[in-house]
Formats: sequence, structure tokens, C-alpha cells
Amino acid sequence: MIARLIKRVFGKKTAATKKSRLQRIPLAQHGLARERILPCALKVTDTLQQGGYAAFIVGGAVRDLLLNKTPKDFDVATDATPEQVKALFRRSRIIGRRFRLVHVMCGADTIEVSTFRSNGLLTDEDDDRATDATGRIVRDNVFGSQEDDAERRDFTVNALYYDPTSQEIWDYRGGVADIKQKTLRMIGDPATRYREDPVRMLRAARFAAKLDFRIDEATRAPVAELAELLDNVPPSRLFDEMLKLLLSGHALRGVHQLRAEGLHHGVLPLLDSLLDVPESERFITAALHNTDLRVQADKPVSPAFLFATLLWHELQTEYAQRIAAGEKPSPAMFEAMDAVLDRQRARLAVPRRLDGTMKEIWTLQPRFEQRSGSRPYRLLPHPRFRAGYDFLLLRGQSGEVAQSLCDWWTDFQDASDDVRASMLLPEPVAQAKRKRRRRGPKPASPSAPEA
Ligand code: ATP
Ligand code: MG
Repeated sequence: MIARLIKRVFGKKTAATKKSRLQRIPLAQHGLARERILPCALKVTDTLQQGGYAAFIVGGAVRDLLLNKTPKDFDVATDATPEQVKALFRRSRIIGRRFRLVHVMCGADTIEVSTFRSNGLLTDEDDDRATDATGRIVRDNVFGSQEDDAERRDFTVNALYYDPTSQEIWDYRGGVADIKQKTLRMIGDPATRYREDPVRMLRAARFAAKLDFRIDEATRAPVAELAELLDNVPPSRLFDEMLKLLLSGHALRGVHQLRAEGLHHGVLPLLDSLLDVPESERFITAALHNTDLRVQADKPVSPAFLFATLLWHELQTEYAQRIAAGEKPSPAMFEAMDAVLDRQRARLAVPRRLDGTMKEIWTLQPRFEQRSGSRPYRLLPHPRFRAGYDFLLLRGQSGEVAQSLCDWWTDFQDASDDVRASMLLPEPVAQAKRKRRRRGPKPASPSAPEA
């Protein structure tokens, strides 16, 4: 009781002041000039500061600019409340229920403005517990000082505040030094911070891969033991975080990092078996490598395509088992697809709206094997032809289908009518006979393509 009272009165101050030493680093030392900030973000910080509030560019943007990378987005942190922010910008809206943020729009850009918050733990009160039984934070929407805001962030390199007016970086936790040393270091006690939010373990793997940083030993060590806490994280949040990793431009490195840290059991349990079988290892490697190249070239990437590749070999195993158990190809295929998707969803919630596209990509595969008669012509205008073809190319790269089949489709797409006609293969005898008896395509299957 007394301890609790002391904690309530002094706890917050000592926890914050004991550990952080604010360094205000001038432009001459860090070299990040105001001109490198997105104009929309400058407009936001300038307007807030003119309104009498503190306002900084914060988080990933400062980190990425110091590393000479292009930031994905610019976030602003301020001591103004969401209502005060909203009052300053005509094109703005308050979003979120648990953490209320403001989106400020200028042109096509959106800047996310958040009010300084403190870690829910530091304001723990008697009856209103901020963590659950495993230490996971369930309440962290409490406003705080700028220093509190730095403390509740995950890694030192993510807790840098850039003031575009003075061009200073406010560094509470040695983040600038860690950027120079390419080190990812958790703020505070790593095990406690992972318990508060197990997703931080995935974030560590993602940032290490994306930034090509080494994970500080004290930050890495508790992960092996705490990895199972990912089971307590809602599957939809895991999906969001995995998608960030897969779309980071460094998915291949990220997935290997996850596996090295033993984190994949909670998100993609199939990763072990996948990466241990040479053929599927080649397929996944080709898929992730292609994704990385597309992201790095600023081309769009479809999450449905990505998850279709990650689940492809599991689908084939499931399908083969059903066929071996005597099921007919078509129902076996549809049931296998549902079984694989449901199993995955229990862990990591691939949204149902992606199911249709994934299933189409899968069921198109055997149709690429059919290169006679009118079938190739009927495949070309299919709305998912392009995705199916790209998927086929990955199967070619991994040796699952012949490269000549991929080349055939590459040529057929762009060929003239005459050339197309000359490319068609003769109809297999059995098929021609069958066709005379009954018309119409046979159900598709991934591993037993129609002859
Ligand atoms: P990216 O470039 O991938 O977006 P980012 O650092 O901006 O990287 P976000 O997920 O956009 O990452 O989060 C923005 C900032 O919010 C982070 O830099 C970090 O300071 C803080 N943050 C986000 N998620 C957490 C978390 N789970 N725990 C603590 N801090 C977090
Ligand atoms: Mg970000």
C-alpha cells in the first residue's frame, strides 16, 4: 500500500528521469537539414509551433533520413491535444478510439499527428490495471510529457525528435549514436517491454532486416523465451505487422530473421517446413525476392499474391492428402483451400477479402498447363491472368514447372494471331475423345493438372 503510494507520487518521475539524458544535437553534428522534410509535414510543425505548441517530426522518418533512406511517411508529435490540433487545420480529422490521432491532409499527403503519450504502465492505478496477466499493455492512451513519449517508444532509433525550426534533434536515449553503430536497442528493460507488447519482437526482426542493423544482445536475448507470448496477440494485429515486414522491401531477410529468432511459430508456423524443403525454399525465396524488387522499384505489391505464395506448398500437401484419401479432385481442391486458409487465420488473420483472389491464383495454375485448342485463348482475358502468370513464373524459377512452359506463355501473350495459332500444341488423344463425349472443362487442381 505504502509502496504503491510512493510509486504513485514519485514512481513516474524517477522512472523517467533516472534513465533518459536529453541531448539536443545541432544540425552541424547530424546533418539533417529542414529541406529534406516533406513540405506538408513542415506546414504541420510550423503551424503548431506558431500556435504556441511544441511540434516535432518523430519516429521512422527521422531515423530513415539519418540513414539516407526515403521515409515511408512523416509523423508529427506535439503537446497539443487532438482537439487543439484539429482546430488549427481545416483539412484534418481525429481518428482512432483508443489512441486518438489527428490526420492532417495537404494535397495528396497525410501527416499523422499524435499527442505526447506516456507508457500506460507508468500511470498504473489501483483498480484500473494497465496490463493483463502476462504483462501486456491493455491501456496506453494516457497523455504525457515529451520525455514520457520518448520512454514509451520501442527502440532508441525510433525515439528521435526533429525540430524543423531549430534543425535540432532531441535525443533522449542515444538513438543517434545507435544509428551510427547500426544497432537496434530496446528502450528500458527488453523483457518487460516485450511482455507489454509482444509485437515488439516482430518489430525488432523487421527493423533489423529493413535497416540492416544488428540487434543489441540484451535486446535479442529474451526473445527466444518470450516468443510464445505472440499467441496472446490478436491475429489481425499479427497480420498487420507481418504485412509490414513482407512489404518492407526486405522481406527475404525479414523472414529469415524471424526464423532465426524463433518467432515464426506464432505467425507462420509453416515457415520451418517450407524453408527445409529445397523446392519450396527456392519458391519462397523467389517470391520474396521478387516482392522486394517490386517494393524497391516502387511498384505495387498485392498482399493476396504474397500470401498465395506463402501458403502454396501447404495447399499442395493438404490437397495430396485428400486425394490419397480418395476424395475427388475438385471438392478436394476446394476443401483443401478452405482448410489451409482457416488454419492460417487462427494464428495470423489474413483478411477474408483476400480469399477470393488467392483461390483464383491457385486454381488458375493447372490451366496454364493446357496449351491446345481454345483453352489458352480463354485463359488470356481472365481478370487474374496476370497474377496467375506471375505466380507460374515463380513456379518456373523454383523448378516446380518447366521453364519452357513459362516461356511459352510469355510469348503467347504478345504474339500475333497467326503466331498464336502455330504455337498451340496438338490435342492429347484422350482429351480429344473425351471432348467428343462431353464438353466443358474439368475441375482444376494444383498438383494434378488436367492433361
Ligand atoms: P516504418 O518506416 O516501418 O513505418 P516506423 O518507425 O515509422 O517505421 P511505425 O510502425 O510507423 O514505425 O510506428 C511509428 C513510431 O511509433 C515508431 O517509430 C515508434 O517510435 C512508435 N511505435 C510504433 N509501434 C510501437 C510499439 N509497438 N511499441 C512502442 N513504440 C511503438
Ligand atoms: Mg511509420
